[in-house]
Amino acid sequence: MKMVNLMNDTENLSLQLEEPEKETEYTFSEEKNKIVGKTLYLVATPIGNLSDISQRAVKVLSEVDFIAAEDTRNTLRLLSCLGISKSVISYYEYNKAQKGEYILRRLKEGESCALVTDAGTPAISDPGEDIVRLCAENDINVTAVPGCCAAITALSLSALSTSRFLFEGFLKGTKSEKKKRLEDLSLERSTIILYEAPHRLKDTLELIYECLGERKIALCRELTKLNEQVIRTTVSGAVKLYNESEPRGEYVLVIDGAAENIKDAFWKDMSIREHVDYYVRLGYEKMAAIKLAAKDRGVGKSSIYKELIDK
Ligand code: SAM
Repeated sequence: MKMVNLMNDTENLSLQLEEPEKETEYTFSEEKNKIVGKTLYLVATPIGNLSDISQRAVKVLSEVDFIAAEDTRNTLRLLSCLGISKSVISYYEYNKAQKGEYILRRLKEGESCALVTDAGTPAISDPGEDIVRLCAENDINVTAVPGCCAAITALSLSALSTSRFLFEGFLKGTKSEKKKRLEDLSLERSTIILYEAPHRLKDTLELIYECLGERKIALCRELTKLNEQVIRTTVSGAVKLYNESEPRGEYVLVIDGAAENIKDAFWKDMSIREHVDYYVRLGYEKMAAIKLAAKDRGVGKSSIYKELIDK
């Protein structure tokens, strides 16, 4: 049974939850929650469900001198839902160099600023990382008001291994640049997390199949919203699904890492070339040998070709 012990003094209000073996202490420190000047607050906002806003986020958004937002229209809508009226300036990919300097100047003059992204945690797949770096380089205090993050929400729902993961965000660049990136990831044993827009989903799934081969995948869409859905399938199953229906909403893709069960595999000490040659010696055509080696390793054919060409 949990014992709740409330200690209240003017400096510190702490709630201790006592459990047989583990003790968790939550501190509601008025001192820590005070808004101070010369500080950038990274404020996480909901990824689709307004109720996910935290009490501290509301307090910080209400009390800072100004808010820097990726999309001011989105943020003004959020603030209006929360009943907050505040000066909001835009800070996004195409004005971040100039606006970063402007925000820094105001912070240096003693103001406090909350940085918010369109949804979720600032600095995760958005220009926030640049302003955090700028502040760190200029001795401006940066603190976080944590909350939703689409990547972590999806990972926790994926039913795939969560012990090690690699966050890739959006695959960037041309098709061949994306392909190269996926090929580089093909031997990665950690679970891989990708963000993708619905209009690019089909192409991305096909590229994943080509470069990573058959794997388990969780397509997490519209997280925390009314139509939240987690589709746990295989990469080929996902390709088939979206050949038959149109992707809708926002997606996080959580992909199984390359096969772990190589410890006992006959090819575990072979290089990729030796692995392919092994099948060739058994009488397979080169193409078939490449396919078999790719299948053994749980990777796409193209990453095997690449190894053969590069080395
Ligand atoms: N900073 C944000 C975070 O903490 O996750 C991510 C910003 S990134 C620009 C936006 C991408 O996150 C979307 O394109 C989508 O891939 C993913 N995303 C955001 N909200 C989501 C939701 N409710 N369901 C699924 N994916 C979501």
